Amino acid sequence: MTWLTIGAFARASRLSPKALRLYDDLGLLPPARVDPVTGYRRYHPDQLERARLVAWLRRLGMPLDRIGVVCDLGPVDAAAEVAAYWERVEADTSHRRELAAALVDHLAGTSGAESAVPERTTPLTVRYAAQSDHGRVRSSNQDWAFAGSRLFAVADGFGADDAEPASAVAIEALKPLDAAVPAGDVLNALEDAVDQAGTAVREHVGAGSEHSGTTLAAMLWSGSRLALVHVGDSRAYLLRSGELLQVTHDHTVVQSLVDEGRITPDEVAAHPQRSILVRALHGGGASRPDAQLREVLPGDRYLLCSDGLHTVVPAESLHEVLSAVPDPERAVRRLVDLANRQGGPDNITCLVADIVRTDEQP
Ligand code: MG
Repeated sequence: MTWLTIGAFARASRLSPKALRLYDDLGLLPPARVDPVTGYRRYHPDQLERARLVAWLRRLGMPLDRIGVVCDLGPVDAAAEVAAYWERVEADTSHRRELAAALVDHLAGTSGAESAVPERTTPLTVRYAAQSDHGRVRSSNQDWAFAGSRLFAVADGFGADDAEPASAVAIEALKPLDAAVPAGDVLNALEDAVDQAGTAVREHVGAGSEHSGTTLAAMLWSGSRLALVHVGDSRAYLLRSGELLQVTHDHTVVQSLVDEGRITPDEVAAHPQRSILVRALHGGGASRPDAQLREVLPGDRYLLCSDGLHTVVPAESLHEVLSAVPDPERAVRRLVDLANRQGGPDNITCLVADIVRTDEQP
């Protein structure tokens, strides 16, 4: 038997001796033998395969605790775990790319130089409409919506059928934002308010109750920038240049299964766990929302909606209505109608917000 010293094993695995000592401490890659007298580590050649896998996963930037999980799986499950990790990295990168673009835009607009973005100097405003409907099955409506001059929000309460649903409590906590918000602080202001909304919901439903709470999709408009925060399965869509893009990523069990490649998007609608949330504002503690600072262009049309719309009305139909009906009031009415025609199994809430030039406002 040829045992490898830590130096020889490091050269063969392309991991440094320092990394090998750390992985030993963490239990990720313990040496096969440690001399009881000298403390020298010795590795078996069979350990090289695991060591090379660790080195490759480190190069992907995978955290060590997750590497430990991958290394202990069989090849098929390990492949699925790596694919799921990389999907998540790409989704995060895409959010960060949007944030970076919005920041570049903002800094260019405040540099005093000639703005490369003509929209920045164009006075913009928001034209909007919202509607919330019981649907055809539920006896009460736990959805809630708010549209003011700066704040736009849709929330979908769940749990105890209270006179004041958690959705209303969350939105009430956000309402102070509808007053003036400093332009530079729009995303922080919204994130802080959502944090306070989470506290308000917890106090309302009772600490520890994970079964009562609300989703939230909220936008805050500063006059030049748009912050968007969401938690749960209420969604935001953007219609821009004729394309409809879902700009939020559902915090649901089924979305996680899609992300991990365990089910396909086509299997979501029939999945028994379709409505189970992995994040929400509830009594069980803080739930981190996703936040985005979005670049704004005149002509952008945002749709915020609860799952009572998007689970029964397919994206193609949303696209069709949003493209064909310019008036926000008529567009939300038409969308609610479509959901009810599909049986209206849940409460339905839609909010349409159009970014328009001030001189185009009727
Ligand atoms: Mg719902």
